[in-house]
Amino acid sequence: MANKVIYPGTFDPLTNGHLDIIQRAASMFDEVIIAVAASPSKNTMFTLEERVELVKQATQQFANVSTKGFSGLLVDFARDEKANILIRGLRTTVDFEYEFGLTTMYRRLLPGLESIFLTPAEEYAFLSSTIVREVAIHGGNIDAFVPQVVHQAINAKMAQK
Ligand code: ADP
Repeated sequence: MANKVIYPGTFDPLTNGHLDIIQRAASMFDEVIIAVAASPSKNTMFTLEERVELVKQATQQFANVSTKGFSGLLVDFARDEKANILIRGLRTTVDFEYEFGLTTMYRRLLPGLESIFLTPAEEYAFLSSTIVREVAIHGGNIDAFVPQVVHQAINAKMAQK
């Protein structure tokens, strides 16, 4: 059976921590779909279309990785894509509590859907999109934390304000 996995998230914006997980997943599975969530309840810095485009640009080098936006339930997206494995990133025990709740719910909603948790390189263990946005908004240098295309997009976004 070919292993097709989904890596879901809001990616507002994609960070080097996300990229680290994508790289690991791409080397382990036949096909990785990055599922960018519309997340209407989150007041995102980037629109869904912008987030999808940035993820696409930053992951061009991976031949077995594709990116799609979705809204609604993740389990419905997984069913439509005929993928039965979710990849999630685990940074600290704080993530664990949240992720454990999510994975339990997903399995109730779609029996057979498994979650696999990957940990990033240690330098990304404390990196989040929220922190990147905060540092950028206050004029800090985010070079080490996001791909170049994301950095440029954040600069452009700030210039609009
Ligand atoms: P969500 O809104 O689903 O939490 P995120 O875009 O914040 O979306 O994260 C998507 C996934 O990537 C989650 O599993 C999250 O734990 C993981 N993740 C986020 N940042 C990192 C990081 N620095 N290292 C490893 N995993 C990460």
